[in-house]
Amino acid sequence: MTIEDSRSVDSIVHDNRFAGEACNLLFSGISDMKQIIDRLEKAECLTRDEWILLLSGYRDEDRVYAAEKARRIAGHYFGNRIFIRGLIEFTGFCKNNCYYCGLRRENEKAQRYRLTEEEILSCCEQGYKLGFRTFVLQGGEDAWYTDARIEHIIRLIKGRWPDCALTLSIGEREEASYRLFYEAGADRYLLRHETGDRAHYGRLHPPEMSFDHRKDCLRALKKIGFQTGCGFMVGSPGQCAQTLAEDMLWIQELRPHMIGIGPFIPHQDTPFGQERAGDYQMTLFLLSLLRIMGKQVLLPATTALGTIHPEGREAGILAGANVVMPNLSPVSVRRKYAIYDHKLCMDAEAAEGLADLEKRLRQIGYETVSERGDWKGR
Ligand code: SAH
Repeated sequence: MTIEDSRSVDSIVHDNRFAGEACNLLFSGISDMKQIIDRLEKAECLTRDEWILLLSGYRDEDRVYAAEKARRIAGHYFGNRIFIRGLIEFTGFCKNNCYYCGLRRENEKAQRYRLTEEEILSCCEQGYKLGFRTFVLQGGEDAWYTDARIEHIIRLIKGRWPDCALTLSIGEREEASYRLFYEAGADRYLLRHETGDRAHYGRLHPPEMSFDHRKDCLRALKKIGFQTGCGFMVGSPGQCAQTLAEDMLWIQELRPHMIGIGPFIPHQDTPFGQERAGDYQMTLFLLSLLRIMGKQVLLPATTALGTIHPEGREAGILAGANVVMPNLSPVSVRRKYAIYDHKLCMDAEAAEGLADLEKRLRQIGYETVSERGDWKGR
């Protein structure tokens, strides 16, 4: 049986969404995972059945095979150069109630804060001196930051550091708001889709949040002209090969410029406080597959990956990532932006953190560069 013949993997695994073992038995020796990975490299897409087969049936050797291929592709486009982004977590207020996130509005234990314009500018100032040429403004969905206030901050930052790229990560807004931000000078926008599977989206979010709206936002951002990033958590409650296949199919459709993935990590004061964290090796495997599929895509080794394993960031780069996003927020608020437990970068100053990070990257043969690091693909 060939891959093309395996039409109905969907129906086979339908009743057992974690059908890794079953798939292994069914297809071992029948479909070679390496063949599927080769096809992904060539076609830059797979069918739903192929994704399910690969994501439920892969073995250690396939992971290694994918990592080597991903690293070669990243090396071809980026050499040993790693882009750095200065992350400024400027508000801890959020009107949403996502079941996984420590900033959810019903978490009364969260210590809410908001940076002033002056504080945000001073983060940029410090970041610029350290060599950052991209600033990322990330926060909860905080209505205090009206469109006009965000627009004002964009103009201030872009006016003062016109050679820098500005990325926003402030959740869902109207298309007109996104347009306003783009016209004010923002260059990029990160909005993880969180899961490409409608039912799974409903398991991660309260009913008032809309799967369709999130996808519409991403389409709008891309249409407006932003370098656009989506992404998802690995190992979020209810995730399985089938839901991951939907993530990959959505990414194939959207063709984002950036993709942020990291393991799910429970936060004790959320409904998912007792759930298990996402799998480290699975995260690395997915990073490799995203590199193989997206070629020039901007792919960070995320803080969450660094949090679940002491060498997570390095391993992420060796699996195909080419971006790191050190924390530039003022030390006084860093602990408060707790989207999950034990989040890294709580105390280390950005300066110390960056020097340490650079040293660690040099040890695996990579160097950070002081550049905007824009998307250069087609
Ligand atoms: N409000 C913004 C920024 C959210 S924080 C927005 O909606 O885009 C950035 C990302 O952190 C989220 O998109 C989510 O994927 C991730 N995240 C949130 N809680 C997490 C957790 N418990 N474990 C791992 N990642 C988490």
